Amino acid sequence: MPEEFGLESGAFPTPILVAALKELGFDLVLDTNTAADLTIMEEGTELLHRLQARQERPTPFGQGDPGHDPMPMFTSCCPGWMAFVEKSEPDLAPYVSTCMSPQIMYGSLLKEYSEEMLGFPAEQVYLTSVMPCVRKRGESDRHAFEHDGIRAVDNVITTKDLGMLLRFKGIHPADLLPQKFDSPFQMDGDGKGSGAGQLFGATGGVMEAAVRTVYEIVTGSELPRLELDEVRGLEGVKEATLVLDSDEMESPITLRVAVANGLGNVKNLIAKMKAGEVQYDFVEVMACPGGCIGGGGQPKGEKDSLDKRLKVMYDLDRTSVSRQPHRQDNLRKVLGRTRWREGS
Ligand code: SF4
Repeated sequence: MPEEFGLESGAFPTPILVAALKELGFDLVLDTNTAADLTIMEEGTELLHRLQARQERPTPFGQGDPGHDPMPMFTSCCPGWMAFVEKSEPDLAPYVSTCMSPQIMYGSLLKEYSEEMLGFPAEQVYLTSVMPCVRKRGESDRHAFEHDGIRAVDNVITTKDLGMLLRFKGIHPADLLPQKFDSPFQMDGDGKGSGAGQLFGATGGVMEAAVRTVYEIVTGSELPRLELDEVRGLEGVKEATLVLDSDEMESPITLRVAVANGLGNVKNLIAKMKAGEVQYDFVEVMACPGGCIGGGGQPKGEKDSLDKRLKVMYDLDRTSVSRQPHRQDNLRKVLGRTRWREGS
């Protein structure tokens, strides 16, 4: 957003954006990173279920009937990648995580519990997402994300749209005082998601966030090294191998992960996986180069914009009070309602 106002990426903190959205007339401003935290807990748990299922029924990737919950598992939060699977690689559908993307997950929860959380029936709640992505609107239009005529997300605007709207209304971030996010889960907190949720904006971020949570669920202790350098940076395909181990575990689990960004790189990676040249357990895919920081809804930017945006993402994670989704206090209420349970 700072780039929309001719400033350097990261030039003003996110609470300024909260103030700008309030100035535009929104009653509540929620942090999408909170929903990214939820996505990670769901996706991490799903990965563990799939790892268990593979032990009972191993099926080589791309050979024969994949059965239920096959491996490797692919991420599902990028609609550009989802469109690619539907049109070009439909056989991969069973391998894609069943988790909704953060914006749809947040919208579904808000509308389901709107009376309790917001004090209004779902029909009276109008939810607009601000996204870096031109495909998120199409995602929100899907019938699967509408129940009894109520959409999970009512409208999507891009970061470029928001910049244009603010300028049109004469609202400049430099004139505003920072405001805290609202949170329907914990009204007295700061409403912010974790640093791991923040990382969703960059290639490798979903993987890094997932590993932090999965490691702790499996081993019962914190990941010794929170920053997974192997999946950081703008390279088209990255990979890492992690060993999950603790004194309480009968035997260690080796987790092989890959991260691909940009559809050309994704196609090459899938071809190698199908040929059996590489094997993974969990694969993160983002259609845009660099991930959402390079999304079609973002300002065009300078030549080195992606590097700068990437650095901002990493700084925001590093300086976050909480860097792990499963330790977020503001999710306690909602966790009691989902199938996810701590330690399961
Ligand atoms: Fe949208 Fe691109 Fe991000 Fe995928 S990587 S969610 S297409 S901005």
